[in-house]
Order: sequence, then structure tokens, then C-alpha cells
Amino acid sequence: MAPTAIILGSGTSNGVPTLGRTYPPEFLADPRNHRTRASCLLQGPEGNVLIDCSPEMRLQLLREGVQDLAAVLITHTHADHIMGMDDLRAFCLKTGADMPVYAAPEHQDDIRRVFPYAFGQFPPGIFVPRFDLREVTSTLELGGLTIRTAYVPHGPVRCLVVRVNDFCYATDLSDIPDEALPLFEGLDTLVLDAVRYRPHPNHFHWDRAVEWAERLAPRITYFTHLCDDYDHGPVEAGLPPHLRLAYDGLRIPL
Ligand SMILES: [Zn+2]
Repeated sequence: MAPTAIILGSGTSNGVPTLGRTYPPEFLADPRNHRTRASCLLQGPEGNVLIDCSPEMRLQLLREGVQDLAAVLITHTHADHIMGMDDLRAFCLKTGADMPVYAAPEHQDDIRRVFPYAFGQFPPGIFVPRFDLREVTSTLELGGLTIRTAYVPHGPVRCLVVRVNDFCYATDLSDIPDEALPLFEGLDTLVLDAVRYRPHPNHFHWDRAVEWAERLAPRITYFTHLCDDYDHGPVEAGLPPHLRLAYDGLRIPL
């Protein structure tokens, strides 16, 4: 199987449709408007690498027929990016090994605080997820893929950006500092945060995301971490072909 990135979830922290809101039937009729929380899978020649564990991680991996994970990368520890981590227990049970989880030191602290039981001692027969927390280096070799990394600001916290070959996944960011630019240059495909139309203190909103997409000039940009501002069909119909909206299940060759 050729190396592929799968957009597991393209939605903002609320998910789309969002609880408590009503939508026109035409909006709901388009499956691309049903957005689970943001996550991406890298399918390498030697294994699968999961970027973030959304609250829908279990359903996302079942949907895509994913049977095994080589490692998990955590971009940051907002709830929509880690609340599926408990379900990693299924893979730990299957392999009998701790799941390698790559995260920044402050994100590792959050994971220990939110999932203390994953690091505790339990009697035989009690199955909990086990995380082998590892440091994120500027280059990682995982699943047979060479993964380049950098951190970008996401409001007051930082978020991991991941690049494989000429593909870059950049969810949850409010700026691209000069030191992170090498990850964004010379791309074929960029997946980029564009949370909503109105400005947001912690995210790229639409105008800013488009501005950066045009400046960085990959062959194609898919916008992700989308709220319900975006009705997929009508929005894409008004865009040039190099600007697209991501959707759950989108597959991108690496
Ligand atoms: Zn976030």
C-alpha cells in the first residue's frame, strides 16, 4: 500500500453538527458536513502513525479499518485532541506493549494528569491503556516514514506541525513563526487550520488561513478544524481548485 495520509476528523472542538443547534436538511444531507474532531492518520510502509486521539478516535479508526498503530503523536493537549486516548487500551491489549506516545514535555505532564491510571500498577486481568511517553525530536522515524516536526503558537500554548515528504499537517495554530517555515515551504499538500470565518484568538480564521495558503503556495491546501460556518458544497464551489475543504475520510498520497 502506498504511503497515505487520512483525515480522520476535520471538525473543530465542538464537532459538526454541533449539539443544541439546528441545521437545514440540505446541510445535513452532505456527509462532508459531518465533521468529527480533528485527527490524521499517516499510513507508512511499516505501520500507522496516529496524529492526535480525538474523542471519536475509536469510531474514526473503525471507519477506516485500522487494525494497528505503531505510534501516536500528540500535537497539544486540548480536550478535542486527547480525549480518545483511553481507547488506545485496545492496541495495548492486542500487542501486550505500551503505546509509544510522542509529546512535548508540558503535554506529557497533561497526559499524566488526565490519565494517571495509564501509569499506575494494576493486578493481572485489569486492562488499562499504557503510554510510553517519548520526546518529540525534529525528525522521527516511525512506521517507515521520515517525519519532520516543528512547533507553532496556538494562542497561549504550542502545537505540533508534522511534515512527511511534501505533505504538511498543521492543525490548531495562530501563527507561523520564521523558525517553523521550513516545514511549510515547497509543499505539494498543506492541511491547514481555518476554524471559522470570524477572527479567533487561538486559530487561523478563514481570511488568515487563505492568506497563508496563498503565501506558502503549496499545490493544494485543504482547510481543516472546521466549524459549522462551512457548508462544504457551496463553499468549495466558490473557491479556486487549489483551495479545498478537508472532510472526514479524505485520503492524500504521501
Ligand atoms: Zn487546540
